[in-house]
Parts: sequence; structure tokens; C-alpha cells
Amino acid sequence: MIQQTLVLIKPDGLKKSLTGNILTRLSETKLDIIAAKIVKVSKELAEEHYRQLKDKPFFNELIKYIMGYYHKQKVMAMVYWGEDAIKKVRDLTGATNPEEADAVSIRGAYGRITTKGVYENVVHASTNEAEAEREIKLWFKPDEIIVGLYPVKIIKDTQEKRVWA
Ligand code: UDP
Ligand code: MG
Repeated sequence: MIQQTLVLIKPDGLKKSLTGNILTRLSETKLDIIAAKIVKVSKELAEEHYRQLKDKPFFNELIKYIMGYYHKQKVMAMVYWGEDAIKKVRDLTGATNPEEADAVSIRGAYGRITTKGVYENVVHASTNEAEAEREIKLWFKPDEIIVGLYPVKIIKDTQEKRVWA
């Protein structure tokens, strides 16, 4: 089944200069990258992304982590697309807890658990199609993705916006 999945290189991955390694590992999947950008993560975006975890004891620390508490407020967001994309990327990513993740998975190789108990696990990957749709629509506008993944509508934009001077 052709699927799309959201991948984030989290702030620890960027801080540790792992971008190249992670992209190389992801290229093993032979999936297509159909969108990519560096995003400054606002509190609103962070909380919306992890809204299913709102009631967890680690939620506040998780929000600070994904916003980049010890580094610039940035993540790299990408959409990978192709046959069984969700499982292929999740398999390569490894288990949520970096200590339990397969040693050769991305999280097993590069993740750590902080003294506050946050799993700094370097990457995010969607776990199912519904989650992928919600997350891709949260992180990307239709025109930022080179494949028409979901239905769109045209609206007249009356708001002021910044353009190159
Ligand atoms: N997380 C954590 N402690 C936990 C569970 C999760 O710090 O006990 C963090 C971790 O960074 C994880 C993120 O919260 O990647 C989202 O959790 P989820 O259960 O969705 O795991 P994932 O889908 O990322 O494997
Ligand atoms: Mg998850």
C-alpha cells in the first residue's frame, strides 16, 4: 500500500549533527522524500503535535524537548512517501525508549534518556495512516508537498503576509 508518513529530526538530532546520518539511514527504505523544511517550533505547534499525550506526566518536559530547550527552536520536518512507508520508517526508527530500541536503529544508536526522564530519541515518525494525515496537515501546507496527498480547497487570502521586498 502506498502511504505517506511524517518524519521529524528532533532538536537533539540537529544539535548532534546527525541530519546526514539520519537521511542516509532513511534512504535505505528507498522511499521518496516529497516535502522537507526546517521549522521553528512554537508552543502551540508542539502541543498540537503531541496532543494525545496531554495527560502524561512527562508532557511538559516533552513539549520543552520538541521546542528545543537546549538548542535553537527548530526541527527538520519531512514527508516520506511510498510502499508501506509507515512501517518501513518506524522499523528503521526503533522503539520509543532508546534503551529498549534495537542497537542499530536510529533511536538505539543515537537516543538517550535525560536525568529528567525524557526519551530524547532523535526522530519522530507517524505510527498509522490517521496519525500521518493529521501530522502532515499540521506541519505542511498543500503547496509545500510535491504530491497531492489529500483533498484541498481554494480560499481567498485576505490577511496580510510577508513577501520578499
Ligand atoms: N516520551 C517520553 N517518555 C515516555 C514516552 C514518550 O519522553 O515515557 C517521548 C518520546 O520522545 C517519544 C514522544 O514522547 O518519542 C512521543 O511518545 P509516543 O508514545 O508517541 O512515542 P513514539 O511514537 O515517538 O515512538
Ligand atoms: Mg507517537
